[in-house]
Amino acid sequence: MIELLPERRAQVVRKAAGTPAADLPCGKASTAGSVSQRACVFCGSRVVLYPISDALHIVHGPIGCAAYTWDIRGALSSGPELHRHSFSTDLQEMDVIFGGEKKLEAALVELIAHYQPKAAFIYSTCIVGLIGDDVGAVCRRVGEKTGIPVLPVHSEGFKGTKKDGYRAACEALYKLVGTGDLSGISPHSVNILGEFNLAGETWILRDYYKRMGVEVVACITGDARIEDIRRCHGAKLNLVQCSGSMTHLAKMMERDHGLPFKRVSYFGLEDMSAALYEAAKFFSDDPTIMFRAQQLVREEIGAIYPELQRYKQKLVGKKAAIYVGGAFKAFSLVRALRLLGMETAVVGSQTGDLEDYRQLQEISDPGTIIVDDSNPLELAKFCLEKDVDLFIGGVKERPIAYKLGIGFCDHNHERKEPLAGFVGMLNFAREVYASVASPVWQFAPRRASRGKEAIGT
Ligand code: SF4
Repeated sequence: MIELLPERRAQVVRKAAGTPAADLPCGKASTAGSVSQRACVFCGSRVVLYPISDALHIVHGPIGCAAYTWDIRGALSSGPELHRHSFSTDLQEMDVIFGGEKKLEAALVELIAHYQPKAAFIYSTCIVGLIGDDVGAVCRRVGEKTGIPVLPVHSEGFKGTKKDGYRAACEALYKLVGTGDLSGISPHSVNILGEFNLAGETWILRDYYKRMGVEVVACITGDARIEDIRRCHGAKLNLVQCSGSMTHLAKMMERDHGLPFKRVSYFGLEDMSAALYEAAKFFSDDPTIMFRAQQLVREEIGAIYPELQRYKQKLVGKKAAIYVGGAFKAFSLVRALRLLGMETAVVGSQTGDLEDYRQLQEISDPGTIIVDDSNPLELAKFCLEKDVDLFIGGVKERPIAYKLGIGFCDHNHERKEPLAGFVGMLNFAREVYASVASPVWQFAPRRASRGKEAIGT
């Protein structure tokens, strides 16, 4: 067992029955030496913009930054796949001394001529911030020369947290918003913000809205095209899923284009249904939209409920730990696990804010550990203390779970099965069951001793 670093103690609370929610000192830089699970600013920008599949993405920095985020998101495209490359200027010692602007300009001109992208995003990394390349000036020159938007992403890795990277991505995207043609957009139309088409989830959601009679103008950024982003200000409502990454863009669109936004989640039956009803309520001038939404929810839940109940019988009483990027996803996961009869014993996020953590404490059971900006040692300690059967997280949490002999469910970039939507809830239940009930855990020393205690040996 390890002790918490003194500077970190206030960022961990245990929900106590009948007491008001504590305020976690969140949204600040990670404690030095704590080896945070957070990624850098550049990575934050890269994961948000990555799924735009007809744009050129070029990482201005050493090759390691590009390798680290190469094909990071697994976002699917129904058309071009230019996003899957990880172009880099591969800055070397001589570039650090004499500057990398010429190299960047030459790379941009050559790549744009070869691939004919609709726009280009240029990501600044730590070293670019240190040597002071004027990336904005290079982008302006190349934009004039080539006639496409060439957009700097000010994402120098060291200048904040992953959340600052989200903001830098929104600023770059916002240069495109408002530049497209609005003709033909339905009066009942939305944009889906903060959905990244992992395993085809965007296509499931688009189908739901289509069945309700609501047009999706742009999904930002799952399976996104530059033209859609340029005209997305013509939609009537923004539905923001990954609130950590996209609220800044939604607020700018509200300020400048009068486009309201609502926070939604597409994970779990309750939240998925609520997301569809939110849009239907907004378009109350056409009551058939609400009628179709109710019909859709009834059909979809009816089709999967019997199988969900079978998984629930096997999973009831099992315990889970959740550690995800944004806290809003954690709310949905707590509710989805409850639907399967499971208890959430540990829950945390990399980028949650004060209100997120208050809400998380409200919906959690007494005794639940709630943690902000955690690290591998803490997470391992909490999992052992609570003796959880399942860890839900991303690529960096997977080895923690497996080393401890705990089942794992990937709810981040690497998932290959859609977990959003009604069908996603069924996939989630199947995956949770397969991992928790796997016979492999009987060979993990800790699990083996649990088995012996149970039979009194
Ligand atoms: S931007 Fe900086 S922190 Fe991020 S991957 Fe590159 S070197 Fe590492």
